[in-house]
Amino acid sequence: MRWSGQAVAVDDGALPGLQRVGFVRSVRTPQFEGMTFHEVLCKSALNKIPAAAMLPFRFTVNGYRGCAHACRYCFARPTHEYLDFDAGADFDSQIVVKTNLVEVLRRELNRPSWCRETVALGTNTDPYQRAEGRYALMPGIISALAASGTPMSILTKGTVLRRDLDLIADAAQQVPLSVAISLAVGDPELHRDVEPGTPSPQARLGLITAVRDVGLDCHVMVAPVLPHLTDSVDHLDALLGQIAAAGGSSVTVFGLHLRSSTRGWFMTWLARSHPELVATYRQLYRRGAYLPADYRDMLRRRVAPLVTRHGLAGDQRPFAGPVPAPAPAPAVIEPQPTLF
Ligand code: SF4
Repeated sequence: MRWSGQAVAVDDGALPGLQRVGFVRSVRTPQFEGMTFHEVLCKSALNKIPAAAMLPFRFTVNGYRGCAHACRYCFARPTHEYLDFDAGADFDSQIVVKTNLVEVLRRELNRPSWCRETVALGTNTDPYQRAEGRYALMPGIISALAASGTPMSILTKGTVLRRDLDLIADAAQQVPLSVAISLAVGDPELHRDVEPGTPSPQARLGLITAVRDVGLDCHVMVAPVLPHLTDSVDHLDALLGQIAAAGGSSVTVFGLHLRSSTRGWFMTWLARSHPELVATYRQLYRRGAYLPADYRDMLRRRVAPLVTRHGLAGDQRPFAGPVPAPAPAPAVIEPQPTLF
């Protein structure tokens, strides 16, 4: 209700998939041209991840489904099909918002049975995507987790994170907390094409510095590395150098996964923007979603000396954060498998 006065259109009709997740209403506003927010009331906030997913955390909280950052390679795209949206343009523009998330989370954290294990924020869609500028779910989530003594990790590409830096620094005084920024494309032209809704590489480098400036370490996810687009020594060297200069403390580097409908959306983009690479990608991903072992070994060997040269640590965060399951095991997170 808080910005109903600014809405130019309110549509209370909904797809059957939205009805399944507690649909309230759909809203469009001039500040977010081309986007529709579908407000829903969730029944639960803490998602427990099946042990079979083999991830380094067992609980996640996700306020949004869909993401206007619109990365062509986004792992989370197939989750939109569960809501009867498509995994392409709908994922980028039809954003589902759990407006009562903080209230439900507080209730769940107050249960005597809550185990206070690390909660990962940013494992499905970006918690600091553009919608967060309006709905502001994260301050309530962070405060509730910290007040309950629950450790947390935050992963984002979004510069909206700056708004909450003081709150995050305060929370880090109360509970173990890690922040990771995702930055894998240093070339501005490729960035505009492959991650069209995300803050620029320069803006994210500035965000890394801002995280350090409030006294926190800043891990950087240099992922996904795109074969033959961002995997050259020159690109990786320059990017890792910029990350180190910005204050990044450690990095995780891994290559592109192409699962289910993400694969079709990404390959359509590749055919349009880099048709010369289509046959190469078909060959690389001929056995499934993961790059072959020899490519992964090559990337590891290429990256290791660069990480050392720039004085960055490898994946040495103090506790579990949002890292994908090791290939080739698929990550399985309710209700559909995703990570980004
Ligand atoms: S990869 Fe992350 S930032 Fe990009 S669209 Fe997906 S959820 Fe959003």
